[in-house]
Amino acid sequence: AKAAGRGKHCFYEPSMHSEAADRQLLENDLRQAIDRGELNVVYQPIVRASTEEISGFESLVRWTHPVRGAISPEKFIPLAEECGLIGQIGQWVLETALKEAANWPDHVRIAVNLSPIQFNDPAVVDAIAKAIDESGVKPAQVELEITEGVFLADSDHTEDTFARLKKLGVRLALDDFGTGYSSLGYLKKAPFDKIKIDQSFVRGAAAPSSRNTAIIRAIVSLAESLEMETCAEGVETHDDLALIRELGCSHVQGYIFGRPAAADQARALANRSRVE
Ligand code: C2E
Ligand code: CA
Ligand code: CA
Ligand code: CA
Repeated sequence: AKAAGRGKHCFYEPSMHSEAADRQLLENDLRQAIDRGELNVVYQPIVRASTEEISGFESLVRWTHPVRGAISPEKFIPLAEECGLIGQIGQWVLETALKEAANWPDHVRIAVNLSPIQFNDPAVVDAIAKAIDESGVKPAQVELEITEGVFLADSDHTEDTFARLKKLGVRLALDDFGTGYSSLGYLKKAPFDKIKIDQSFVRGAAAPSSRNTAIIRAIVSLAESLEMETCAEGVETHDDLALIRELGCSHVQGYIFGRPAAADQARALANRSRVE
């Protein structure tokens, strides 16, 4: 039902009248959000587990609505995907984030989330190449975070796009790992450099008899044999951090090392490359 609504205006259902009307209003506002300067990108540090050095930052989009205030990307990204706005928003985030990362040392990576709809656009590789050229970042500095959603289309385009992105020299991370299905097949198909272990496995993993421990251990061992890095997302406590280290995740991201921060704060951290 979600896919069927893509690219169209949101469907009408009598019982949902006010909700549908509300979505329509929000969609109209989102259409103008870029031009009105209401979107903003924040940056969350990703840290090497062994040394606590910052390996890079994930760019995360924010929308401050003039009347409603902050609206979560969990809400407006799906709306943008359904109403045909994600291409424009995604490209704006990509260009903004890469330009910002050009102020960081070359070894500090910039991770950008790529919606499956952006990925499936025939022009995606050219758009990424253009953003890299115009920003001056090194291709190897760029890490694209992709979810299993890209494989639903399972077309020749998918394989071809992965090959062209590798040729471009960017890094690829499989985001939200473990939350979808048949992830193992996807690991075989696509040349990922990193697996991001979803927060749902990480948070509270240190609790006694947590089954998450076994799951994380299995993912890390799989990633190691495929020569991929692993990033545990959503690490908030020292107990969870200690366990994540013990389980051998190569990278950590979470409030324990820093919340998503404004560009100037991220820049200061990037130039120090260490969280204190
Ligand atoms: P994600 O890609 O899985 O991003 C990680 C989310 O986890 C971010 O939420 C981040 O703020 C949050 N997070 C990180 N560490 C912790 C922690 O220790 N505890 C808790 N409770 N949360 C933590 P955010 O920024 O609200 O983004 C939510 C989702 O919205 C993202 O999930 C991603 O799916 C989507 N999103 C955000 N920005 C973009 C974007 O520029 N493009 C696209 N396509 N999607 C985006
Ligand atoms: Ca992500
Ligand atoms: Ca994630
Ligand atoms: Ca998520």
